[in-house]
Amino acid sequence: MENVDVMIQLPEKKWLNYIGGKWVEGAGNRTIEVENPATEETIAEIARAEAVDVDRAVEVSRQAFESETVRNMSPRDRSEMMFRIARELEGLSEEIALAECLDNGKRLSDARHQAFASARYFSYYGGLADKLEGRSIPLGNRYVDYTVYEPYGVTVHIVPWNYPLQIAARSVSCAVATGNAVIVKSPAVSPLSVSLLGEACEKAGVPEGMVNILCGHGEDAGQALISHGDIDLIVFTGSLETGKRILHAASQNIIPCVMELGGKSAGIVYPDVDIENVTDDVIKGIFSNSGQICSAESRVIVHRDIYDAFISRLVEKVQKLSIGPGKDEHDITPLVSGGHLESVERHCRRAEEDGVALLAGGERVADIPGYFFKPTVFSTHDTGHPIACEEVFGPVLVVHPFTEAEEAVEIANGTPYGLVAGVYTDSLKKALWTAGRLNGGQVFVNEWYAGGVETPFGGTKRSGYGREKGQEALFNYVQTKNIAIRIGD
Ligand code: NAD
Repeated sequence: MENVDVMIQLPEKKWLNYIGGKWVEGAGNRTIEVENPATEETIAEIARAEAVDVDRAVEVSRQAFESETVRNMSPRDRSEMMFRIARELEGLSEEIALAECLDNGKRLSDARHQAFASARYFSYYGGLADKLEGRSIPLGNRYVDYTVYEPYGVTVHIVPWNYPLQIAARSVSCAVATGNAVIVKSPAVSPLSVSLLGEACEKAGVPEGMVNILCGHGEDAGQALISHGDIDLIVFTGSLETGKRILHAASQNIIPCVMELGGKSAGIVYPDVDIENVTDDVIKGIFSNSGQICSAESRVIVHRDIYDAFISRLVEKVQKLSIGPGKDEHDITPLVSGGHLESVERHCRRAEEDGVALLAGGERVADIPGYFFKPTVFSTHDTGHPIACEEVFGPVLVVHPFTEAEEAVEIANGTPYGLVAGVYTDSLKKALWTAGRLNGGQVFVNEWYAGGVETPFGGTKRSGYGREKGQEALFNYVQTKNIAIRIGD
């Protein structure tokens, strides 16, 4: 019989940075070790970019942006190039799947999906590259006036570790569609799939320097990039705390930013629902990717009439979830690193010490290697407790009871975040009433994560600003120029 472990090894290769169309070591010749969170083994090394590599990347991006090749590329040719990138990503899907299964811990099937979802960004925005049309503005007979959308120039994309390739693809596709040059800083934890985006761009014939990919730590390469004097736009996806540092640096050079930050999103469950369906959906909403999703359903607010029945069915299902490595398609895969496991554990320990009722999980899995944390459910009336307000970013669900709809909305909206929200009901009237009152850039009705590349996504309140995905995301990457022409006396 074939040994499965042989099949899921990464190819022997040197993982490098991609700058100016070339694969290069870091100038300091240092590397970052890449770990498999399911086994705690080092599986690869990647060249570590530092400030001097950042300078080089900015220089070649600027040259590319101003080159005839990029400036004269017609929107239609950009479309064709982006379709080629999409095809190359699909062609690399097995390698991408291995990378995200092994350096991130994802289920192999989810990791494979990442390649196709990332390709979809390039085909979707490739299809829009030649459809961004300006306006003609009437100023009377003596003038012709029109607007054009122009790219910013050198765009910086700072990417988190939870969906590294897909999040990079989300913003890089928009930036390329609109004619910008791109520098991606991949996360030091779980960087390999983003590196494969460089390979797809190279194979697709993207002009040298138009897309550059650096792997580095936030405090050196990241900080050098966001503070650089010759960049034009920052697209940041990550935590609230890092977001504040990004905005501080950006303010020094008046660099516009798109901010995609964290969340503590809640679903409201009215008593008219099918408990079987909704508990399944909540389990998908919080426990997919072991809760390491910015828009995870980390809170659920359930009507008192069905509270006990709901909790009992939910906990019964949670206790049956399988835990193990992504290569074996388990329900709960490892957290991305030892440090992150400790952070999730700290949140849960504090909640337990403060007397929050623990209904399932609440601890790491002690008897196997890897950073596994049991799927966890807390129930509490204390909506102000940190476990109910702070982002844990792990497989941890908090359930609250409610009686009146107004109370449910107040609880849902009662954190500093406002990324997404949800409502479960059979009543269209209740769904519309509730969706209209919930904070969040996106509201899901009867299905968490409903939507796709086509639907705008982004935060309200401390979850950030700007919208990614959908047609309106393109407007993050262009500036309007008005041209007024006097044609007569
Ligand atoms: P993080 O903020 O620690 O890191 C994000 C990125 O910022 C990494 O590449 C990191 O190296 C870099 N970075 C860190 N310090 C920096 C600095 N001083 N200058 C420049 N770059 C710096 O976040 P994380 O732990 O990688 O990701 C988890 C967080 O991301 C969660 O809060 C999650 O909600 C959020 N997230 C948001 C979205 C969204 O679309 N809204 C999507 C995914 C993740």
